Amino acid sequence: MTHQESGYKQASRRLGQYIAAHGMRVSMERQILLRMFCTGRRKWTVAELVSQAEKEHICRATVYNALRVLTEAEIIRVCSPAGASRKTEYELNETGQNRIRMICTKCGRQTELKDTGIARLVGEKKYSNFVMSRFELTVYGECKVCRKMKATK
Ligand SMILES: [Zn+2]
Repeated sequence: MTHQESGYKQASRRLGQYIAAHGMRVSMERQILLRMFCTGRRKWTVAELVSQAEKEHICRATVYNALRVLTEAEIIRVCSPAGASRKTEYELNETGQNRIRMICTKCGRQTELKDTGIARLVGEKKYSNFVMSRFELTVYGECKVCRKMKATK
């Protein structure tokens, strides 16, 4: 399983929960849009989304509707544009997801691991007096660059 696939599965599950909770119908078009966000993990402007969606025979109004639902479900979010371009961009909202970070104790470099066996293991744990919504896990050690530097010294 690739990271992107598992990211899509997780996002798709969250969307499913949101749809069920709000009594909405399951829409194929929303799933296609969601997959676009999960594949490549890039930012999308509305114009880009519309043009990409049109290739899948999804009309503009449906794209707007799907964006609203995905934003409300906090699966995607609006990211404020950095440059001079004032176009609204959307990206996958990963803050609500489980996180596993690796931090190098030498240089402070942080890398993120996504949905490995560990995430599943921790995520499926049940506690009698606590309901987990998400978790963060940090693994400390030495990164590849620092290890290489040590080896050449
Ligand atoms: Zn390092």
